[in-house]
Amino acid sequence: MCAERRQGVIYLDHNATTPVLPEVFEAMRPYFTEQWGNPSSTYKFGAKLKTVIETARAQVAELIGAQSRDVMFTSCATESNNAAIHAALKANPGKRHIVTSAVEHSSVLNFCMALEKDGCRVTYLPVDRDGLLKLADLENAIADETAVVSLMWANNETGVLFPVKEIAVICRARGVLYHCDAVQAAGKVEIDVSRDGGLQADYLSLAGHKFHAPKGVGALYVRRKAPFSPLIHGGHQERSLRGGTENVALIVGMGKAAELAQKHLPGYEKKVRPLRDALEEGILNSIPNTELNGHKSKRLANTTNITFHGIEAEALLILLDQEGICASSGSACLADSDEPSHVVKAMKPESIASRQMIRLSLGLATTATEIEATLVATRRASGMLRDSG
Ligand code: PLP
Repeated sequence: MCAERRQGVIYLDHNATTPVLPEVFEAMRPYFTEQWGNPSSTYKFGAKLKTVIETARAQVAELIGAQSRDVMFTSCATESNNAAIHAALKANPGKRHIVTSAVEHSSVLNFCMALEKDGCRVTYLPVDRDGLLKLADLENAIADETAVVSLMWANNETGVLFPVKEIAVICRARGVLYHCDAVQAAGKVEIDVSRDGGLQADYLSLAGHKFHAPKGVGALYVRRKAPFSPLIHGGHQERSLRGGTENVALIVGMGKAAELAQKHLPGYEKKVRPLRDALEEGILNSIPNTELNGHKSKRLANTTNITFHGIEAEALLILLDQEGICASSGSACLADSDEPSHVVKAMKPESIASRQMIRLSLGLATTATEIEATLVATRRASGMLRDSG
């Protein structure tokens, strides 16, 4: 659990990625060293790996209350998100409208922007100052030519939770397919796509590395009877829905991590929320001109996103890094761009807060000592930057 501390850092960027748990690593090891066959082979040395993949599929399905056969493995959540939207458009050639929000992950937003260039119309629903959607805006946006609604469960930058169950009900009533990017929700809140009272999404995306599996493996849930046509054409793998030789070791890792995420879920909030709250309140109460971004309660228990007015986030992050604290100014995928956070900009368009915010995201292994040290370092760093500014 403590790989991050062995490297001498305080890791508060769990929304970017998480350490591979030792049990996950051990579960994967034989598939690198001894059992490295190709599952599509006819001889037993390879073919027996099909069973291993099915066990992992069942473990991932269990985490989201799905049937195994409705879960497909992918290379990452970016692929899952692209594949879901692509499938919905393919199934409805006469419908070229997509509804999404202004605060989705770039794997949805940039795909939608590429589709606009190919003639699709996209509605980007706005959010309010707390990062919340108005369901009436969704109702108004859905039109006869809408093929799919793609709205995330939990925002990666602020942790704000969208009312996904209500969104799914609206989509169903209007006869529109619903894709939910549940990447940040998995392992942090209960996900249940089962028929009875569950989330009635048609597609749901997951990324292994956000819940202690390795990077490079994801999954896409496709509801039975929801249309699907492959994004990646190739061999007969994944019931011909996604070509490409299966990465057995990573799939096994995602299965094991899903099993562990489910085991840890009942204690997750109780462990993580008090530490997140202590950090958040400590910063907001003791550092002047700081402001929370995101709804106070409709939010993941592990995430806090705070604007430090008058301080450039990059400068603050460098000083924290010098003290061994890993935090970020938003999505890891956009960390190397000069663009301010599109999420905070959508919430507070009039301000330059999007350049002055940092995100801290905790994990199950985060300790009170680490939170105390982070508070002290953040106070010191913001004091220095304000004095010099
Ligand atoms: N969706 C959300 C909400 C995410 O936070 C991320 C990763 O940060 C992704 C999708 C894409 O995941 P990956 O980079 O593993 O493809």
